[in-house]
Amino acid sequence: VPELPEVETVRRGLNAFTTAQALQGGEVLLARTLARPVSAADFLAGITQSQIVTWQRRGKYLLARLQREDADAGWLGIHLRMTGQLLWLERAAPLHRHARVRLFFPEGRELRFVDTRTFGKLWWVPPGEPVEAVVTGLQGLGPEPFAPEFTPAYLSDRLQRTRRLLKTALLDQTIVAGIGNIYADEALFASGLRPTHPANTLQPSQVERLHGAIQQVLQTAIAKGGTTFSDFLNLLGVDGDYGDAAFAYGRTGEPCRVCGTPIERLRLGGRSSHFCPRCQV
Ligand SMILES: [Zn+2]
Repeated sequence: VPELPEVETVRRGLNAFTTAQALQGGEVLLARTLARPVSAADFLAGITQSQIVTWQRRGKYLLARLQREDADAGWLGIHLRMTGQLLWLERAAPLHRHARVRLFFPEGRELRFVDTRTFGKLWWVPPGEPVEAVVTGLQGLGPEPFAPEFTPAYLSDRLQRTRRLLKTALLDQTIVAGIGNIYADEALFASGLRPTHPANTLQPSQVERLHGAIQQVLQTAIAKGGTTFSDFLNLLGVDGDYGDAAFAYGRTGEPCRVCGTPIERLRLGGRSSHFCPRCQV
Protein backbone atom coordinates (compact mmCIF):
# COMPACT_ATOMS: atom_id res chain seq x y z
CA VAL A 1 0.00 0.00 0.00
CA PRO A 2 1.57 3.30 -1.04
CA GLU A 3 2.37 5.58 1.89
CA LEU A 4 3.61 9.17 2.01
CA PRO A 5 7.10 8.54 0.53
CA GLU A 6 5.68 6.49 -2.37
CA VAL A 7 2.98 9.06 -3.14
CA GLU A 8 5.58 11.84 -2.89
CA THR A 9 7.78 9.93 -5.37
CA VAL A 10 4.82 9.68 -7.76
CA ARG A 11 4.09 13.40 -7.30
CA ARG A 12 7.63 14.33 -8.30
CA GLY A 13 7.37 12.16 -11.40
CA LEU A 14 4.04 13.73 -12.32
CA ASN A 15 5.52 17.21 -11.98
CA ALA A 16 8.42 16.21 -14.21
CA PHE A 17 6.33 14.67 -17.00
CA THR A 18 2.76 15.93 -17.09
CA THR A 19 2.78 19.68 -16.46
CA ALA A 20 2.53 22.59 -18.92
CA GLN A 21 0.88 20.69 -21.78
CA ALA A 22 -2.78 20.53 -22.69
CA LEU A 23 -4.61 17.31 -21.83
CA GLN A 24 -6.10 15.87 -25.00
CA GLY A 25 -8.85 13.85 -23.37
CA GLY A 26 -8.79 10.28 -22.26
CA GLU A 27 -10.71 7.10 -21.75
CA VAL A 28 -12.42 5.66 -18.69
CA LEU A 29 -12.20 1.87 -18.78
CA LEU A 30 -13.75 1.20 -15.37
CA ALA A 31 -16.55 3.60 -14.46
CA ARG A 32 -16.36 3.17 -10.69
CA THR A 33 -12.78 4.47 -10.64
CA LEU A 34 -14.35 7.92 -10.95
CA ALA A 35 -15.44 9.28 -7.58
CA ARG A 36 -16.72 12.65 -8.85
CA PRO A 37 -18.16 13.38 -11.32
CA VAL A 38 -19.48 9.85 -11.78
CA SER A 39 -20.10 10.34 -15.51
CA ALA A 40 -17.07 9.63 -17.68
CA ALA A 41 -18.25 12.20 -20.22
CA ASP A 42 -18.42 14.93 -17.53
CA PHE A 43 -15.04 13.93 -16.13
CA LEU A 44 -13.35 13.99 -19.54
CA ALA A 45 -15.05 17.25 -20.55
CA GLY A 46 -13.80 18.76 -17.27
CA ILE A 47 -10.14 17.99 -17.84
CA THR A 48 -9.80 18.09 -21.64
CA GLN A 49 -7.83 21.05 -23.05
CA SER A 50 -6.68 22.05 -19.57
CA GLN A 51 -3.06 22.14 -18.45
CA ILE A 52 -1.70 20.81 -15.20
CA VAL A 53 0.02 23.74 -13.47
CA THR A 54 1.49 21.70 -10.64
CA TRP A 55 0.89 18.57 -8.58
CA GLN A 56 0.49 18.85 -4.83
CA ARG A 57 0.30 16.10 -2.24
CA ARG A 58 -1.88 16.10 0.85
CA GLY A 59 -1.55 12.91 2.90
CA LYS A 60 -1.81 10.20 0.25
CA TYR A 61 -3.90 12.35 -2.11
CA LEU A 62 -2.41 13.69 -5.35
CA LEU A 63 -3.96 16.99 -6.44
CA ALA A 64 -3.28 18.69 -9.78
CA ARG A 65 -4.12 22.36 -10.22
CA LEU A 66 -5.71 22.81 -13.67
CA GLN A 67 -5.76 25.85 -15.93
CA ARG A 68 -7.41 26.50 -19.28
CA GLU A 69 -6.33 29.59 -21.25
CA ASP A 70 -4.93 31.16 -18.06
CA ALA A 71 -8.23 30.66 -16.23
CA ASP A 72 -8.79 28.35 -13.26
CA ALA A 73 -10.04 24.98 -14.52
CA GLY A 74 -10.40 23.23 -11.17
CA TRP A 75 -8.46 20.26 -9.85
CA LEU A 76 -7.71 16.67 -10.81
CA GLY A 77 -7.47 14.44 -7.74
CA ILE A 78 -6.07 10.90 -7.52
CA HIS A 79 -5.86 8.43 -4.62
CA LEU A 80 -3.94 5.22 -5.33
CA ARG A 81 -5.45 3.37 -2.31
CA MET A 82 -4.11 -0.21 -2.11
CA THR A 83 -2.81 -1.12 -5.55
CA GLY A 84 -3.22 1.93 -7.80
CA GLN A 85 -0.30 2.82 -10.06
CA LEU A 86 0.31 5.67 -12.45
CA LEU A 87 2.44 4.95 -15.48
CA TRP A 88 3.83 7.39 -18.02
CA LEU A 89 3.69 5.53 -21.34
CA GLU A 90 3.47 5.74 -25.08
CA ARG A 91 -0.22 5.77 -25.94
CA ALA A 92 0.43 2.75 -28.19
CA ALA A 93 1.72 0.65 -25.26
CA PRO A 94 -0.34 -2.57 -24.89
CA LEU A 95 -3.35 -2.12 -22.65
CA HIS A 96 -2.87 -4.08 -19.43
CA ARG A 97 -6.12 -5.70 -18.29
CA HIS A 98 -6.04 -3.76 -15.03
CA ALA A 99 -5.84 -0.38 -16.79
CA ARG A 100 -8.70 1.76 -15.45
CA VAL A 101 -8.32 5.31 -16.75
CA ARG A 102 -6.20 6.76 -19.56
CA LEU A 103 -5.29 10.45 -19.79
CA PHE A 104 -3.93 11.53 -23.16
CA PHE A 105 -1.07 14.02 -23.53
CA PRO A 106 0.56 15.55 -26.62
CA GLU A 107 3.10 13.66 -28.72
CA GLY A 108 1.41 10.32 -28.25
CA ARG A 109 2.08 10.18 -24.52
CA GLU A 110 -0.31 8.91 -21.89
CA LEU A 111 -0.73 8.85 -18.11
CA ARG A 112 -2.31 5.49 -17.39
CA PHE A 113 -3.99 4.58 -14.10
CA VAL A 114 -3.63 0.84 -13.47
CA ASP A 115 -5.28 -0.74 -10.42
CA THR A 116 -5.63 -4.47 -9.68
CA ARG A 117 -7.85 -4.21 -6.61
CA THR A 118 -9.91 -1.28 -8.02
CA PHE A 119 -10.09 0.77 -4.79
CA GLY A 120 -8.23 3.72 -6.36
CA LYS A 121 -10.21 6.86 -7.19
CA LEU A 122 -10.08 9.91 -9.47
CA TRP A 123 -11.88 13.22 -9.00
CA TRP A 124 -12.40 16.28 -11.11
CA VAL A 125 -13.21 19.33 -9.00
CA PRO A 126 -14.95 22.09 -11.02
CA PRO A 127 -13.41 25.61 -10.80
CA GLY A 128 -14.69 27.63 -7.87
CA GLU A 129 -15.55 24.60 -5.74
CA PRO A 130 -13.41 23.98 -2.65
CA VAL A 131 -11.32 20.85 -3.20
CA GLU A 132 -12.35 19.42 0.20
CA ALA A 133 -16.02 19.72 -0.74
CA VAL A 134 -15.50 17.24 -3.57
CA VAL A 135 -12.53 15.18 -2.37
CA THR A 136 -14.15 14.71 1.03
CA GLY A 137 -11.42 12.47 2.45
CA LEU A 138 -9.24 15.59 2.75
CA GLN A 139 -11.52 17.04 5.41
CA GLY A 140 -10.35 15.13 8.48
CA LEU A 141 -6.66 14.89 7.63
CA GLY A 142 -4.15 15.81 10.33
CA PRO A 143 -1.03 17.88 9.60
CA GLU A 144 1.66 16.77 7.19
CA PRO A 145 4.70 15.29 9.00
CA PHE A 146 6.86 18.12 7.64
CA ALA A 147 4.37 20.93 8.27
CA PRO A 148 5.34 23.59 10.84
CA GLU A 149 2.28 22.71 12.96
CA PHE A 150 3.46 19.11 13.37
CA THR A 151 5.55 19.78 16.48
CA PRO A 152 6.49 17.50 19.41
CA ALA A 153 4.02 19.51 21.52
CA TYR A 154 1.21 18.86 19.04
CA LEU A 155 2.05 15.13 18.84
CA SER A 156 2.23 14.90 22.64
CA ASP A 157 -1.15 16.59 23.00
CA ARG A 158 -2.81 14.25 20.49
CA LEU A 159 -1.25 11.10 21.99
CA GLN A 160 -2.28 12.16 25.52
CA ARG A 161 -5.90 12.16 24.40
CA THR A 162 -6.06 8.57 23.18
CA ARG A 163 -6.07 5.27 25.07
CA ARG A 164 -5.03 3.40 21.96
CA LEU A 165 -1.74 1.64 21.34
CA LEU A 166 1.04 3.71 19.83
CA LYS A 167 1.03 1.84 16.51
CA THR A 168 -2.72 2.32 16.10
CA ALA A 169 -2.40 6.03 16.89
CA LEU A 170 0.34 6.50 14.29
CA LEU A 171 -1.90 4.99 11.61
CA ASP A 172 -4.69 7.46 12.48
CA GLN A 173 -4.67 9.95 9.58
CA THR A 174 -6.36 12.62 11.73
CA ILE A 175 -3.28 12.73 14.01
CA VAL A 176 -0.67 12.86 11.24
CA ALA A 177 -1.27 12.41 7.50
CA GLY A 178 0.41 9.88 5.25
CA ILE A 179 1.87 7.23 7.59
CA GLY A 180 0.94 3.59 6.98
CA ASN A 181 2.12 0.22 8.24
CA ILE A 182 5.67 0.28 6.89
CA TYR A 183 6.77 3.68 8.14
CA ALA A 184 4.91 3.35 11.46
CA ASP A 185 6.98 0.22 12.20
CA GLU A 186 10.16 1.95 11.08
CA ALA A 187 9.50 5.11 13.10
CA LEU A 188 8.74 3.05 16.21
CA PHE A 189 11.96 1.10 15.78
CA ALA A 190 13.97 4.29 15.29
CA SER A 191 12.48 5.77 18.46
CA GLY A 192 12.95 2.61 20.55
CA LEU A 193 9.24 2.27 21.31
CA ARG A 194 7.07 -0.84 21.00
CA PRO A 195 3.97 -0.82 18.81
CA THR A 196 1.98 -1.90 21.89
CA HIS A 197 3.14 0.99 24.08
CA PRO A 198 0.02 2.87 25.28
CA ALA A 199 -0.02 6.17 23.39
CA ASN A 200 -0.97 8.28 26.41
CA THR A 201 1.87 7.14 28.69
CA LEU A 202 4.86 8.46 26.73
CA GLN A 203 7.38 10.67 28.51
CA PRO A 204 8.13 14.04 26.83
CA SER A 205 11.57 12.78 25.81
CA GLN A 206 9.97 9.73 24.15
CA VAL A 207 7.52 11.89 22.21
CA GLU A 208 10.43 14.05 21.10
CA ARG A 209 12.29 10.95 19.85
CA LEU A 210 9.20 9.61 18.08
CA HIS A 211 8.55 12.96 16.38
CA GLY A 212 12.15 13.11 15.13
CA ALA A 213 12.01 9.46 14.02
CA ILE A 214 8.83 9.99 11.96
CA GLN A 215 10.44 12.83 10.03
CA GLN A 216 13.79 11.06 9.62
CA VAL A 217 12.28 7.76 8.41
CA LEU A 218 10.02 9.49 5.88
CA GLN A 219 12.85 11.74 4.67
CA THR A 220 15.11 8.73 4.09
CA ALA A 221 12.38 6.86 2.21
CA ILE A 222 11.58 9.87 0.00
CA ALA A 223 15.29 10.23 -0.81
CA LYS A 224 15.35 6.56 -1.84
CA GLY A 225 12.27 6.89 -4.04
CA GLY A 226 9.94 4.83 -1.84
CA THR A 227 9.97 1.19 -0.90
CA THR A 228 10.33 -2.05 -2.80
CA PHE A 229 7.53 -3.52 -0.64
CA SER A 230 3.89 -3.60 -1.71
CA ASP A 231 4.56 -3.71 -5.46
CA PHE A 232 5.29 0.00 -5.55
CA LEU A 233 6.47 1.36 -8.90
CA ASN A 234 7.22 4.94 -9.88
CA LEU A 235 5.88 6.56 -13.06
CA LEU A 236 8.45 4.82 -15.22
CA GLY A 237 7.71 1.40 -13.73
CA VAL A 238 10.83 1.30 -11.52
CA ASP A 239 10.61 0.32 -7.83
CA GLY A 240 12.22 2.29 -4.99
CA ASP A 241 15.07 0.97 -2.89
CA TYR A 242 13.97 1.70 0.66
CA GLY A 243 13.23 -2.02 1.21
CA ASP A 244 16.92 -2.74 1.84
CA ALA A 245 17.03 0.04 4.42
CA ALA A 246 14.18 -1.29 6.62
CA PHE A 247 15.08 -2.06 10.25
CA ALA A 248 11.86 -3.74 11.34
CA TYR A 249 9.15 -3.90 8.67
CA GLY A 250 9.02 -7.25 6.87
CA ARG A 251 12.06 -8.65 8.76
CA THR A 252 10.32 -11.22 11.02
CA GLY A 253 12.88 -13.69 12.39
CA GLU A 254 15.85 -11.81 10.92
CA PRO A 255 18.48 -10.39 13.28
CA CYS A 256 17.94 -6.82 14.46
CA ARG A 257 20.44 -4.60 12.65
CA VAL A 258 21.37 -2.99 15.99
CA CYS A 259 21.49 -5.83 18.57
CA GLY A 260 21.09 -9.09 16.62
CA THR A 261 17.91 -10.22 18.43
CA PRO A 262 15.39 -11.77 15.99
CA ILE A 263 12.72 -9.28 14.89
CA GLU A 264 9.27 -10.28 16.15
CA ARG A 265 5.87 -9.85 14.57
CA LEU A 266 2.45 -9.48 16.13
CA ARG A 267 -1.03 -8.76 14.82
CA LEU A 268 -2.61 -5.48 15.90
CA GLY A 269 -6.00 -4.49 14.56
CA GLY A 270 -5.64 -6.79 11.56
CA ARG A 271 -2.20 -5.43 10.60
CA SER A 272 1.24 -6.94 11.15
CA SER A 273 3.61 -5.06 13.42
CA HIS A 274 7.34 -5.76 13.41
CA PHE A 275 9.64 -4.82 16.29
CA CYS A 276 12.83 -5.72 18.14
CA PRO A 277 11.96 -7.04 21.61
CA ARG A 278 15.30 -5.79 22.95
CA CYS A 279 15.68 -2.33 21.34
CA GLN A 280 12.03 -1.29 21.75
CA VAL A 281 10.36 -0.81 25.16
ZN1 LIG B 1 17.45 -4.78 18.52
